[in-house]
Amino acid sequence: MSILEIKNLNLGFNTECGFRQALWDVSFSLNKGEIHALVGESGCGKTISAMSALRLLPKNAVITSGEILFKGEDILKFDNRQMSSLRGAKIALIPQDPMTSLNPLYTVGNQLLEVIKKHQGLSGDAAYKKAVEALKIVQIPSAEERFNSYPHEFSGGMKQRAIIAMALACNAEILIADEPTTALDVTIQAQIMKLLSEIKNRTSAAILLITHDLALVAENADYVSVMYAGRIAESAPSEEFFANPKHPYSRALLNAIPSARTQKLETIQGQPPSIYQDISGCRFHPRCDFCMEKCTTEIPPLFDKGKNHLSACWL
Ligand code: SF4
Repeated sequence: MSILEIKNLNLGFNTECGFRQALWDVSFSLNKGEIHALVGESGCGKTISAMSALRLLPKNAVITSGEILFKGEDILKFDNRQMSSLRGAKIALIPQDPMTSLNPLYTVGNQLLEVIKKHQGLSGDAAYKKAVEALKIVQIPSAEERFNSYPHEFSGGMKQRAIIAMALACNAEILIADEPTTALDVTIQAQIMKLLSEIKNRTSAAILLITHDLALVAENADYVSVMYAGRIAESAPSEEFFANPKHPYSRALLNAIPSARTQKLETIQGQPPSIYQDISGCRFHPRCDFCMEKCTTEIPPLFDKGKNHLSACWL
């Protein structure tokens, strides 16, 4: 069941050079109990698409059209009060750097109590029990003692666990995990991803995983959407995507993962365009080995390739 649906989202920025479009007709949905990975190179629009769901956008961002449906309701029509009760309580953000969400001046426990009080309406013993239980679920050792620790007394992995505990304590239905393991070493990365998977299974939360790391996606995601230069290039169930990638950009990304056998790493020629570059037709065409004349003038729609697999390519 779809809990979040982004439909034909068009968004741009007011800049010194005028209005520049950054997202074109971005559509994807997130189902309960599913990890949906939004993949692409940096600047492709994956973070801004996800942040739209929290309406946490830069001041100069303008959504020009589209819908963002949370359980069927368009949150673009929500007032500030409605949005504030949605953020944290129903849709929680697991950021790349947990210190952007943790206040260094307060203990982890106090910050947990604060969100529980705000979003669950609990106080006193009930709030404390809920907070400690959440720390235990995310496997913080000696949770009762660690409750009184300050963020700087936690390792990077433990800080990320504390953020996940806050989302859990509020029974968040959607977790937006923005490159949640980038700042962590490989072993801790695996532990955090395992924890997110366990939470997905335990609570049926939907997780939107924003990442450039296809190896992480292969191991953890149920569904994949690849973005390129502000558009969805391809989307498919994870197994189908890795078995049968359709879009030349997806294939190039996959070829850029070093093979365990050959350790051969292929790079994608050129750079993704900035929002200041106007590109006609397929936005990948300047970098595509299969570019045809039509690709330079006509925008390919997302073609249905069967098995719930969509690809925006004229091939
Ligand atoms: Fe390449 Fe053309 Fe497909 Fe774009 S539409 S990815 S340029 S073949």
